[in-house]
Amino acid sequence: MCAWDDNEAARKAAETAGVPLVDLNRRDWQNFAALVLSPGIPFRFPEPHRFVRMAQLVGVPVIGDMELFARAVADLKDFERPRIVGITGTNGKSTTTALIGHILKVCGKDVRVGGNIGVGVLDLDKLHGSAIYVLELSSYQLDLAETLKCDVAVMLNLSPDHLTRHGGMDGYVQAKRRIFRNQGPHDWAIVGVDDTRSQVMATQLTAEGLRKVITVSAEYGLGRGVSVLEGALCDSMTGRAGPPHDLSKARALPGRHNHQNAAAAYAACRALGLEPNDILAAIETFPGLPHRLETIGVIDGVRFINDSKATNAQAAEQALRAFPNSWWIVGGRPKEEGIDDLAPFFSHIAKAYLIGESTEAFARVLAGKLEADKSRTLDVAVEAAFNDARASGVANPVVLFSPAAASFDQFRDFEQRGEAFRQAAAKLIKRRSA
Ligand code: ADP
Repeated sequence: MCAWDDNEAARKAAETAGVPLVDLNRRDWQNFAALVLSPGIPFRFPEPHRFVRMAQLVGVPVIGDMELFARAVADLKDFERPRIVGITGTNGKSTTTALIGHILKVCGKDVRVGGNIGVGVLDLDKLHGSAIYVLELSSYQLDLAETLKCDVAVMLNLSPDHLTRHGGMDGYVQAKRRIFRNQGPHDWAIVGVDDTRSQVMATQLTAEGLRKVITVSAEYGLGRGVSVLEGALCDSMTGRAGPPHDLSKARALPGRHNHQNAAAAYAACRALGLEPNDILAAIETFPGLPHRLETIGVIDGVRFINDSKATNAQAAEQALRAFPNSWWIVGGRPKEEGIDDLAPFFSHIAKAYLIGESTEAFARVLAGKLEADKSRTLDVAVEAAFNDARASGVANPVVLFSPAAASFDQFRDFEQRGEAFRQAAAKLIKRRSA
């Protein structure tokens, strides 16, 4: 085993951690069993990394950490094999993964949560027969996993994201669909059907007849599946509807999008054999995840909401639906699809505060539709939004940080960006109490 990174600082860190380095530019590739690629490195689009090309030239398979995990599981005897729940989709993966992990834990299962969330899959505790692995799977990871087989695979929703890395929407949808690969008649596919692309996928999977398919929705009442309508969850997975269950006590899961996540988590846990009432009780005690519509404080009646994880327009749309009439801080490194699709919500927003690389581009989209301040940095935006919200005289005003763009222009990642928002709000509190 040997490793390489084009970045010198990363190589130094690896060396310090005792990882043997070999310069892949100078090494003979014939004897390599596989090239294990980090999901952040381009595999097919916009163009394969030069090491991917080299591997392909000499016939060395290119795989990811999920594939190593899948092979380790496949090598186990049947009674040693843990069960695997995989979760993908454009938005809601982390929330749904954490929610399924929480329900299983509350219900006394031995559960390991990881993958694209928190701990990498190979750092999770050792495999054993009664454990359940709950894995968040990004489209990049799915692209690099050939033999992964999920006992329960959840696909929440599909909207344009990461298109450059998948050569367009078709490539992106195909990558997501890989979560259902290798499934057999005892396995479950849980599919959200609130957007048309996901509906098509659910229909295709049902027509294939290779695995059990359960549809979930926060928009439509389903004859067979799990729906949440007007805040009440209804289980008709067997074709007979159970009594509706009010989700209003699940305080960490506000909004229709979170009801989609709750419906999917419920269906996944039913597929694993848990009892409906146990699942529903556990959903109510879910504490939620930071940086997703997280209320971080109220100052002079103004509520601050940190939705730093909203890195695309589809995610920010959920925030604008949940908090109409807010003072909206938006921007960062823009995604290809921009914020044009949010136009129907502009009339709901009191004012926008533009930050980051997207400032000029987003200003053009908002021009004539919504008053916008070119704040450029988060600190300036938080202060301006707070002052305007407080002076507005509106009841229960909200400063909403839901950027609809990636964080990498000004921050390391969405977490650091969310912490910067938290600190900017904390500074205001300090100043007001001084
Ligand atoms: P992911 O891991 O897929 O990025 P998260 O659970 O971290 O998803 O949520 C990311 C953002 O998407 C948050 O801003 C959140 O409010 C929004 N979101 C969460 N669930 C959904 C959903 N089912 N549909 C659309 N947006 C969602």
